[in-house]
Order: sequence, then C-alpha cells, then structure tokens
Amino acid sequence: MTQKTIAATALSREIREHKRSVRETALETLKNIQTLDVSVGAFLTVLPEEELLAKADAIQKKIDDGTLTGPLAGVPVAVKDNICTKNLRTTCASKILETFVPPYSATAVEQLEAAGALIVGKTNMDEFAMGSTTETSAFLQTRNPWNLEHVPGGSSGGSCAAVAAKEVPLALGSDTGGSIRQPSAFCGVTGIKPTYGTVSRYGLIAYASSLDQIGPVAQNVSDCAALLEAIAGHDPKDATSLQRQDCQFSAACVQDVKGMKIGIPEAYLQEGLDEDIREAILKAADTFRALGAQVETFPLPLTEYAIPAYYLIASAEASSNLARFDGVKYGYRAPEGEGLHEMYKRSRSQGFGPEVKRRIMLGSFVLSAGYYDAYYLKALRTRALIRESYTKAFRTYDLLLAPAYPTTAPKLGVSLEDPLKMYLGDIHTVSVNLAGLPAISVPCGFDRQGLPIGMQLIGDAFAEKTLIRAAYTFEQAADVLAAAPAGKED
Ligand code: GLN
Repeated sequence: MTQKTIAATALSREIREHKRSVRETALETLKNIQTLDVSVGAFLTVLPEEELLAKADAIQKKIDDGTLTGPLAGVPVAVKDNICTKNLRTTCASKILETFVPPYSATAVEQLEAAGALIVGKTNMDEFAMGSTTETSAFLQTRNPWNLEHVPGGSSGGSCAAVAAKEVPLALGSDTGGSIRQPSAFCGVTGIKPTYGTVSRYGLIAYASSLDQIGPVAQNVSDCAALLEAIAGHDPKDATSLQRQDCQFSAACVQDVKGMKIGIPEAYLQEGLDEDIREAILKAADTFRALGAQVETFPLPLTEYAIPAYYLIASAEASSNLARFDGVKYGYRAPEGEGLHEMYKRSRSQGFGPEVKRRIMLGSFVLSAGYYDAYYLKALRTRALIRESYTKAFRTYDLLLAPAYPTTAPKLGVSLEDPLKMYLGDIHTVSVNLAGLPAISVPCGFDRQGLPIGMQLIGDAFAEKTLIRAAYTFEQAADVLAAAPAGKED
C-alpha cells in the first residue's frame, strides 16, 4: 500500500534543477492521496486542487527568481490536525472542533511556508492527541499502510501513515508522550521528538503544555533533519521557546559513530517486550558495535514510575487546557439546554469522546484539594527524579538505545478494549517527555508478521545532532527498509 515517490530533499533538488515543477509535484501528490487514502485514511482535510495549485505556482515563482533556495522549497508536507493552519479547518479529530477554522497559523506552519513547503492537508490523530492508535479520532479510521488490518499507531497516526504510504514525503506530528516516535515505529518511518522548547508550541492546540513538542516525520533521517531545521528556533510568542544557536541539523548527517558510548536501559529489554523487538534491538546494538561504537546495558532507575507520573501530569494539564472548550469561545455548542451551566455541560458531554472525558476526570481528580499532594505533587517529584536519573546516565553515555514500543502495530479494534493496558504500552516513550529530552525513532527491522520495528535513540537535552548522526550512520549501514518483506515495499 505504498506509492513510488522520492524522498523530500531529493525531490526539492529536482525542483530546483527544473527537472520537475512544483505544480507537477502538487498534482502528483493529490493523485497519490486520491488513490491511496481511500484505504489508508490518513487525511482529515486535503486542500482543494485550485488552492493547492495557486500555492504551488507562487512557490515556483519564488524558486525561479532565486528567493527560495532551501531543501524544502516545493516539497509537499502534511500537518497533524492539532496544529493550527490559517483558514484551513483544524479539528484535533474532535467533534468539539469539527468546524473550527483558525484565524492564524502555528509558528511551525509559518516557518514551513517561509521555507517554501507546500502544505497539502491535515492528518488524522487520536482525539486531542490522547491515545496510541489513532482510533480515538471522532471522524476516521486510519490504517497501517504495511498491513491494513493493523493500526498506524498514535496519536500522530495520520502523519506517519501518510509518509509511510508515500502520499507525502514529509509530515508534522506532535509528541507529548511518544506520539511521534511510536507511530513512526509502527509505520516504518523516521520521527524526531525534539528537546522541549526547540520548536515553538504557538498554535499547537495544547494537550499537556509541559510535555508537548511538534516534530518532523519523514522517510529517512536526512529529510527528518531538514524538516526539523526548518521549524526549530526561538519564538517570542511561546514563553517556553528556547534561544538555540545550534539548529543546523542537516549538517549532522555524517556517517561516524566511532567511539560513541551507547547505553541500553536494562529494564527496557525485560518482560513485556516482544521477542522479535528484543532481537531487532540487540541486532541494532551489534550494528553500532561493528561501526565502532561501544554499547552496553545499564540500570536506569525509576523506569517503573514513568507511566503513573506521566498519566497524572498529562491528565492534570489536559483537564486545565481543555477547560477552554465550553461551547462559547470555540467550536461545538449543544443546540438545546437551559441556562449557562446546562449549555456547558451538554456541549462538553456531546463534543468530547470517551478517552478525552476519562483524562479530564482523572486530571480534575488529581488536582482537587484533597488529592493534590497525594497524586499531582508526588508525580511532579517523581518527574524531577526521572530527569535526574537521565542526567546521571548521560555522564557516562552519549546516547541511549531503546525500543520505541513493547509491541509492533496491533490489529485494529483490540487496544481500545483495555485503556489501562494501552497506557502501559507507553513505557519506553513517556519518560523522555517528562525529562524534556530529544529522541529519534528509526526503523530497525521487521517482526515475523512483516510489520516494521522501530528503535529509539535518546539523547541529553540539546543533543539532537548526536542522535541524528547516530541514526544516519545506522540507516546507511543497515539499510533496513531495503530488506522489507516481499510485496510490502515497492
Ligand atoms: N499515548 C500517549 C497518551 O495517550 C501519548 C500521546 C501523545 O504523545 N500525544 O497520552
């Protein structure tokens, strides 16, 4: 279920060398979406052809007159539907925002447009980014392009499926507790969760503000680096945005891991991990060794507390962030109901889906007067300790190697039956967000069903370049996707 297209940086080179036009590229992308998305279901909204072509022509003009010279000029990009796009519907895959058309664009979207990227549409996701399969979307079922009976992962499932099916070469996702890395792993694509504060959150509809980061999804490491480079940078509109001078990520795509020290947290290889994934991770470790890195396992303390700390903090922040959806300021308002409170109640009851309601209830509970100390405050303390245990690990290791998720993509329909079990699956990803660290998910093999396996490389704060260098070196050496099971990849 994939299409033959070339990767982003190669595509933009062809455009700049006038071997193809932006208009041609736009039409090809629309055709890809038309043929593939009927079965994949990655897009909630696609730009109308006329509008897309007008944008394509405007970009072409700027390329021709030498204004646009960068690696994203003319490249189609899909955007997760929790990232605001001016005059283009942005729903968070929720009924409550079904008709919301933002009057402004997120900073990351503005940066993409300034770089000449062609935004083609908005991708499906778990409602308000809460979930691990994209099945909590109020509107659409997205399927894994490698096997349509399986989920694409979540919550950025639409973005990762769109890139995996090669409907588009690039997409933006958001990662609060793994939502870029896990669906990237499930779909056999590459995704980066940047250091907290690297990409502006202005215009990203908040789930848990202290954890959320926008990041890139692509077919390979260098495309991912180019996309991250375009969206990174300080933004005065986001108070948590960092002043970083070291965002030349494409320059980190060099093949060299000699002398690098890589640690594998022991607990991440223990019970609950699929045997095929364990094997793939150990094989990746061997590849790194063969390339000159030192790899060893080590005990990373407190891993068992990451899930409870994450779900308490994320739900607490969500309950506060989602208070703004009240039927007055944005989106859906229940048609009948007497008085203001009744209207609030009905709008929220009808507008939010069950997973979102579960989180709002949990979050309100842990923030309530009687339970604040026992739950929320304790979770914050745990978060500080988790951050500390990473700091200690990075005194010894340049980066950490870990699975992205304990299983490959489950079948459609099975995960939602047991939400608690679904929460537990996030064991390998959430602590990275709690600690504000960067991590990249890269394909590292296939399980015996032919589904992709992803590994995660985790770095200390600001160590994206080390991650990109290691991931790029691995990708070039292992060429995992070239060994895809027959018939699955073109
Ligand atoms: N699965 C996690 C959750 O439901 C992660 C979500 C995310 O990163 N947006 O909270």
